[in-house]
Amino acid sequence: MRKLLLSMIMATAALSGIASTKVVAHRGFWKTDGSAQNSIAALVKADSIDCYGSEFDVWLSADGQLVVNHDNSFSGKKIEQTTFDELTSLKLSNGENLPSLEQYFDAAKKCKTRLILELKPHSDYKREAEAISKIVAMVKKYGYESRMEYISFSLNACKEFVKQAPKGTPVLYLDGKLSPAQLKELGISGLDYHLNILKKHPEWIEEAHKLGMVVNSWTVDNAADMVWLIEHNVDLITTNEPVVLKKLLIETYGEKSK
Ligand code: MG
Repeated sequence: MRKLLLSMIMATAALSGIASTKVVAHRGFWKTDGSAQNSIAALVKADSIDCYGSEFDVWLSADGQLVVNHDNSFSGKKIEQTTFDELTSLKLSNGENLPSLEQYFDAAKKCKTRLILELKPHSDYKREAEAISKIVAMVKKYGYESRMEYISFSLNACKEFVKQAPKGTPVLYLDGKLSPAQLKELGISGLDYHLNILKKHPEWIEEAHKLGMVVNSWTVDNAADMVWLIEHNVDLITTNEPVVLKKLLIETYGEKSK
């Protein structure tokens, strides 16, 4: 009886808006007309549907400048071995040029969404540290310190962000290899793990929260998986389907915020 009562309370709590999971658009909101992954349009469109954050991927060009792209190559050009001018003259599928980080930040002036910057693992640690010092300087120039969250599969890059970014800036590790306690030890403020890792280690969600850490999960496009994460109190969900997730949060959980 007591157990039944408890589950009824939990169900009512879920329906009355206890969920506080936030929506991060993966590579921006790109599954819509006129958009493309990691385009400026994808950032602006993620903002226009009121996403909490818009995620994008950053590389250092051969001549040491920051560009936005996912893969280590684009149109057959290796990003790390190609100059900035060459890279930024390449066309995305929506007709935009491949954006520089500076152009991305310029476009972000008109947006409110948080900037979830993923630094891709580079060919060596030195280039990662160089990229991070340039990112941190650019963020400072734009006054975006309080809008940033940094993520990376490279543990080295996460450690560098912790070292170089202002204290308190969220830095989340993506690679799923470390427990919350191990990340905390390194000064990393959260985990951003693949859904399957969190399903294998659901105890890490509570452990992270007890340690005052943030939990994000990627890349979650299916409603049943979204529900699992929401029910497990994950803080952020990174998705290619931000409209689906927002609708689910509003309609099922009465969540009015982002
Ligand atoms: Mg990414």
